[in-house]
Amino acid sequence: MSSVRYYDIHTHKDFDSPDIIQIVSIECSELHRMREGKLFSAGIHPWQIPESFEHLLTDLETLLKANSIIAVGEIGLDKCCKTSFALQDVVLKMQLQLAEKYKKPVIIHCVKAWQEIIAIKNNHQNLKLIIHSFNKSYEQAETLLKKGFFLSFGAAILKNDKIAEVLRRMPFDKIFLETDTSSTGIVELYKRAADIRSIKVEELGSLIEDNFRKVFGEKFTNDRKQQLEYQN
Ligand SMILES: [Zn+2]
Repeated sequence: MSSVRYYDIHTHKDFDSPDIIQIVSIECSELHRMREGKLFSAGIHPWQIPESFEHLLTDLETLLKANSIIAVGEIGLDKCCKTSFALQDVVLKMQLQLAEKYKKPVIIHCVKAWQEIIAIKNNHQNLKLIIHSFNKSYEQAETLLKKGFFLSFGAAILKNDKIAEVLRRMPFDKIFLETDTSSTGIVELYKRAADIRSIKVEELGSLIEDNFRKVFGEKFTNDRKQQLEYQN
């Protein structure tokens, strides 16, 4: 076992590896995918809002009440999808209220709705919001950082120099890494990110671990640590 624990804070692929801690993102309509010993986030994605969604919100609250998920998400706003924006907005706000009530961080999907997402953050100062798969300019990153968002970077850092440059300029305490739906593994992303920051993977590992503890909570980290020790 390597000394680095790799935190993949947003993925849709669920697999077991002793060094990798995944937060597997699932829809509220696919809770059957949940299993023991894994960390999950759940939510209603803006692409997936059915005509009647109230029962999904009830399911989400049940999970939050039981502390069965580590985060709410991915949820958000997307101006390039078929779902009506007004409906997306309503469903997002209801889920954020639940996240606030149960004090859970939120993994945000945002496409061309930055002003709206920032306005929401202004109304939920205490919520920890993580923009997943960030792929915009540094100016955009700066605006979000000033508002208190965390930014999570994915496979784009491997092939897009501009995104790599954004990551290079980021404050360390606001960074996460994720694989999302990419075939690139989290270990490769850590190596590339460490390279971009000119630090060792071990150093990056402990910085991101600190962020993970701060945002997602000591309890879940410790639970996972106990599992890892048990496995070994
Ligand atoms: Zn995703």
